[in-house]
Amino acid sequence: MCSLARDGGAVEPNHATDEAQSGEVWRTGSASVPRWKSRKKAEIRWGSSRVRGLTSRAVKTGLTPAAALEIVLQEATALGSETVATDRARDRVLTEGVTSGRQLPPADNSAMDGYAVRIADLADASRKTPVDLSVTFEVAAGAVPDRSVESGQAARIFTGAAIPSGADAVVRQEDTARDGDRVSIHVCPAAGEHVREAGEDVRLGDRVLEAGAVLGPAEIGMLASLGRSVVAVHQRPTVAILSGGDELVEPDGDIAGGRIVSSNSYSIAAQCRDAGALPTYLGIARDTPEEISRRMLAGMRSDVLISSAGVSVGDRDYVRDVLEKLGCTLRFWGVEMKPGYPLAFGRFDAAGGPLMFGLPGNPVSAMMTFEQFVRPALLKMTGRRRLFRPQIRARLTERLSKKPGRLHFVRVDLDRDGDEVTARSTGNQSSGVLRSMTRARGLLVFPADSSVLEAGEYATVQVLDTDFFNAETPAF
Ligand code: AMP
Ligand code: MG
Repeated sequence: MCSLARDGGAVEPNHATDEAQSGEVWRTGSASVPRWKSRKKAEIRWGSSRVRGLTSRAVKTGLTPAAALEIVLQEATALGSETVATDRARDRVLTEGVTSGRQLPPADNSAMDGYAVRIADLADASRKTPVDLSVTFEVAAGAVPDRSVESGQAARIFTGAAIPSGADAVVRQEDTARDGDRVSIHVCPAAGEHVREAGEDVRLGDRVLEAGAVLGPAEIGMLASLGRSVVAVHQRPTVAILSGGDELVEPDGDIAGGRIVSSNSYSIAAQCRDAGALPTYLGIARDTPEEISRRMLAGMRSDVLISSAGVSVGDRDYVRDVLEKLGCTLRFWGVEMKPGYPLAFGRFDAAGGPLMFGLPGNPVSAMMTFEQFVRPALLKMTGRRRLFRPQIRARLTERLSKKPGRLHFVRVDLDRDGDEVTARSTGNQSSGVLRSMTRARGLLVFPADSSVLEAGEYATVQVLDTDFFNAETPAF
């Protein structure tokens, strides 16, 4: 990974370019705040009455995770279209339906190296009673045959070469014996044997891919076959990431004197990439409203702005105030889940500003709220329709308990036990313990109103790591 901005210098989020696709993310440009080119400048005057966007009246608190998700997904909509090179379109989502302007294969062609023949000549051919034909010409792959196969004749042919007129089957080389310009045929082929028919894959005018299709390797190969070197897909959301706190340093910084590394910037950026988004880094804001707002302004041209920390109720938690002063309409603050209660969500409304997620500062809370709310929003913006992780029912190998009230997401490891999947906690579930997140292949959904899940009970698990389904031995 490229190094982060040492001084947290403001960075201008890039848009979905090829360069960004190549993984160049942490641009550490000048410390100046970029001018808003297309969006109205928000008014920020600390201590002034001329402050817009004081919208806290509308803020809902203490929502259930389901209610919060519904609000997030109402606000997140699929981004517009852009044209990208087909070979860079892996995992992107088509905004166009693709209709074939050609047939595939374009002409009848041979599936084997051998001889193009007329079956009427070979009615009685067998290994014991071979039939001799005269080899009158040869067709190489890519060549257009300009002669016909006449009765008593054969054409030498190679895989992929067009079938010459007159021929109606191909005999494999292994079923023949060549002698000069004669070939003896040892089998009686069926009509069309070893011939790949023109259009058997795709016919002219076939609708091959629909808008909304996710492009995997086969779709990309198909687009190439249809002559499409570029393709229209949904843009990828740009996400500006801000960390906040006087205690934070970059990973190569000095942690003496109670400082800690701003790991959230790293985990959040990785989660963004995982969801098909393009993260940029706004650096670490010290705990002053001026610095938080200055850095936030640098993220206003992104599709999404994420800040972590400072959205709680501490004396130095200024993020909420800053958001309101920058014209962010907060839709909710606080979700009844653990870890991750202090999640704020809204939108900078002026001229269609970015969606705003104020994530909690604790490393697991930040990741968990991203996982449950930001990830589905980003996937929706990329045009995807399936927004959620695979869900399985897993059998608990140990008892879990909690206070009723909030929904808990329990970090679990998963194992196979015959046809069943078993789950067990990865250890200390505190919201600051990232270690138990590193081993979590799944997140067990411990419903809000229950307080005990007994060993042997089944629970729903969101599968984070589908590597679990990969096998160590081949299936054959
Ligand atoms: P706060 O929301 O500012 O009260 O932060 C809650 C906890 O999260 C504190 O222990 C912070 O030190 C920690 N924290 C805040 N920001 C980050 C970050 N970017 N990376 C890692 N930990 C953080
Ligand atoms: Mg803080």
